[in-house]
Amino acid sequence: LPIAVVCIGMAGSGKTTFMQRINSHLHTLHHASPSTAAPAYVLNLDPAVRSVPFESNIDIRDSVNYKEVMKQYNLGPNGGILTSLNLFSTKVDQVMGILEKRCLPQPTAQQQQPVEPQLLPSHILLDTPGQIEVFVWSASGSILLSSLASSFPTVLAYIIDTPRTLENTSTFMSNMLYAISILYKTKLPMILVFNKTDVKDESEAVEWMRDFESFQAALRRDEEREGEGGGGGGYMGSLLNMLEEFYNHLSVVGVSSMTGAGVEEFFTVVEAKREEFEKDYRPELEKRR
Ligand code: GDP
Ligand code: MG
Repeated sequence: LPIAVVCIGMAGSGKTTFMQRINSHLHTLHHASPSTAAPAYVLNLDPAVRSVPFESNIDIRDSVNYKEVMKQYNLGPNGGILTSLNLFSTKVDQVMGILEKRCLPQPTAQQQQPVEPQLLPSHILLDTPGQIEVFVWSASGSILLSSLASSFPTVLAYIIDTPRTLENTSTFMSNMLYAISILYKTKLPMILVFNKTDVKDESEAVEWMRDFESFQAALRRDEEREGEGGGGGGYMGSLLNMLEEFYNHLSVVGVSSMTGAGVEEFFTVVEAKREEFEKDYRPELEKRR
C-alpha cells in the first residue's frame, strides 16, 4: 500500500520546498527502475500559494479560487484559506475516490486479455497551507486527514526551520509544544523534520531533546541574557517531563531541502513509521470508527 506523507509546519519552515525535494527524489528512483513503483501521487492543499514548484495530481486551486473566496465572503487571508479548505472538504469523497482509484490495487474485471498489472505509487505526498493552524485546527483539515488515514497508512512530517527554532530556547519550546498538540489531536505517527541543515544542522536540537541537562543549561543562558532571573523553574521542570514522554514517540531527521541532504534517511524513517501506523494507529482508528 502506498503511504501518505502529510507535510505540516509553520509558515516558511520549508514545506513546499521539502515536498519538491522528496517528490523529485521519488521521481529519480522511479526512472532508475520504472517497474518498481509509479512516481508519487501529489496533492497541493494550499489554496493561497502562487506557484507550486512541483507537478501535483490534485490541486485545491483547481477547485477553489482563494482570491474570489476572499472577495465574495469579505474575508482576510486566514479566513480565505479556511473557507477555501472548507469548500474543498465538501468534495472529500470525490478526492478519496480519485486517490483510491489511482493508488490502491483495482480489482481486475473479467477480461479476455490479461491486463498489465497497474503500477502503483509508493507514496502520496500532501502539501498543506502556509498557516499551520488553519489546517490542523479546522474541521475540514481533520476531515481530510481522517479520510486519508482510513484508506492509507499516513504519517505527518512536521517541518521545522532549524536555524530559526534554535535561535533561543523559547522558540524551540513553542515549536515542540505545537508539535505535541498536533500529535495528540491527530493521533498519527509523526516525524520531526529539521529542515535547512545547510544553514544550521540539527545536532543542537537533538541534544536538547535527548539530554535535558543541556536544554536546561541553554534555558539558563537565555534567561540570564534576557534578564528573567530563572523564574518558572518548577513549571519548566514539569514541561520537560512531558516533553521527554513526547520525544519517545517521535522520530527525528535532519534534512536540507536545498541540497537534498538527509532525504534518503527521511524515507527510511517513513518506512519505520509505516510499521508503527499498522501496529499502533490502525487498531485505534478502527476502534474509533
Ligand atoms: P512553506 O511556507 O513551509 O511552504 O515554506 P517554503 O517551502 O515556501 O520555504 C520558505 C523559505 O525557506 C523559502 O525562501 C525557501 O527557499 C527556504 N528554504 C526551504 N528549505 C530550505 C533549505 O533546506 N535550506 C535553506 N537554506 N532554505 C530553505
Ligand atoms: Mg508552502
